[in-house]
Amino acid sequence: MKFFALTIFPDLFSSFMTHGIVRRAIERHIISLNTINVRDYTTDKHQVTDDRPYGGGSGMVMKPEPLAGAIRAAKEADPTAATVLLTPQGRVFNQQRARELAALSGLIFICGRYEGVDERVCKHYVDFDISIGDFVLTGGELAAMSIIDALTRLLPGALGGEDAAEKDSFSNDLLEHAHYTRPRRFEGVEPPAVLLSGHHKEIEDWRFESALIRTVLNRKDLLENRLLNRREIDILRKWCADIERIVRAQSSSGTGPFSGDQ
Ligand code: SAH
Repeated sequence: MKFFALTIFPDLFSSFMTHGIVRRAIERHIISLNTINVRDYTTDKHQVTDDRPYGGGSGMVMKPEPLAGAIRAAKEADPTAATVLLTPQGRVFNQQRARELAALSGLIFICGRYEGVDERVCKHYVDFDISIGDFVLTGGELAAMSIIDALTRLLPGALGGEDAAEKDSFSNDLLEHAHYTRPRRFEGVEPPAVLLSGHHKEIEDWRFESALIRTVLNRKDLLENRLLNRREIDILRKWCADIERIVRAQSSSGTGPFSGDQ
């Protein structure tokens, strides 16, 4: 997959491109990432990329001509790539969207700065808008890197076999199970015994239950938006029954903190 980042700060991407899975994916030609310096597409002597807003007020706006030139250059390199405006006003990015975008051949990211981008570029040069969440960054570069990172790990061959993306959080509308590694005893705490048992079926059952219960505790909304399968219903019933038994035992013994309540 081909990525282009249109930015006035291309150096921000250097470290990102030379570490970890993104670096490996570039070396294996699974992705390419080209930064295009918007300043290179200015036509004035001072290479100005921003200007004061029409109508007055504070802040600066990214000028349309250099951005349009940078977009045209990226399009020349990959005419099939879609152009994305990074903006807090866009549709919010998530794992489902990551899967959809990972099927495309290329993406051109417009990394805004200041108050954002001249509306005429947004209207005439952009295929879709993406936000990475309901907060405001000072520039689109971190948003572009977040999206490129999330897409890269979905591409075939980008991750090693042992950490495949299908088990990641959100892949099945579930958060991922808890993880433990050596040492066996850390600050007096050991991993759950089942993980040391070598019993693959029991380990798989424990991980499934861990994922489901973590999702119930941290992100109930993920489960509310989809149908539960038989296995999930059975586990949740078992937890409900256990909780019910604990509460009953408290109220019948008359010693619980709520024993006086009716
Ligand atoms: N004045 C704008 C915000 C500008 S922030 C507004 O209120 O809508 C400057 C730049 O940072 C934006 O042009 C965009 O490219 C980037 N940015 C800020 N927050 C972002 C977010 N949540 N997702 C994606 N890009 C963001």
